[in-house]
Amino acid sequence: MPELPEVEAVRRQLVALILDRTVERVRVHRRDVVRDPRGRRQGRLAGEQLGVDRVIRSIDRRGKQLIIEFDDDRGLVIRLGMSGRIESGDAKRRRSVPLHRHVAWTIAGGSDRPAIRMEFIDPRRFGGVHLFEGSEDRDQRVLRNLGPEATLIDGKALGERLKGSRRAIKAVLLDQQVLAGIGNIYADESLFRSGIRPDRPAVDLSALELERLARSIRTTLGLAIDAGGTTLRDHRLPDGSAGTFGSGHLAYGRSGQPCTRCQRPMTACVVAGRSTTWCESCQA
Ligand SMILES: [Zn+2]
Repeated sequence: MPELPEVEAVRRQLVALILDRTVERVRVHRRDVVRDPRGRRQGRLAGEQLGVDRVIRSIDRRGKQLIIEFDDDRGLVIRLGMSGRIESGDAKRRRSVPLHRHVAWTIAGGSDRPAIRMEFIDPRRFGGVHLFEGSEDRDQRVLRNLGPEATLIDGKALGERLKGSRRAIKAVLLDQQVLAGIGNIYADESLFRSGIRPDRPAVDLSALELERLARSIRTTLGLAIDAGGTTLRDHRLPDGSAGTFGSGHLAYGRSGQPCTRCQRPMTACVVAGRSTTWCESCQA
């Protein structure tokens, strides 16, 4: 599923395509993917709730969530869930209508540029479009209980977030209330880079290890963002291209393959209910 790097790569393309432009119209093909700030389904939807006639003032990200704000302080939080993606491009050029397209925006063109379409597509529908009105609605309801951004974490802050937890470090890294943005792929990658075994109780990590882990998280996420994220199956950037970070994976999905450091086979196990790959000799 899309984690922080995938969503950030999507955000960067959208900024180049639609920031500061006006939404001309929206079509909702499946109303049940649109939710109010408390997560309830919307019976009726007015175009202005989804930005029609408004200028897109900002395109941000919080953890794994994309935030689009309009110039009337309303906005959308888009969650990609397991299989969601955003497709965007010239509104007039398209080969075929994508399957599972639930919401489609048209962004107005001008004399010197074409109209742009932006579509929310989600085959498995674990994602959704959450409406908010103003920053309080956004922060207190839609985005509540999110930990600090994983891209900005340092060792000291990470230690404070772990609060002496006895849970496995991997379980804690996956907890969005502790740290926002990391999922299964980047947890395995960060733990491998830092040389820490995924099932270590978080409370046992020394200050030095926390520093190393925080640095590994920042490095891993930075490299992944630059590569457009990891495409296992569904992830695509708005222009349709795939993320290429998969070829740079050191741990995730490499069980049985030689460790890139010691050449011994990588081990698969289950930590925090998630499939986990690590090296028994390089991670302690
Ligand atoms: Zn190794």
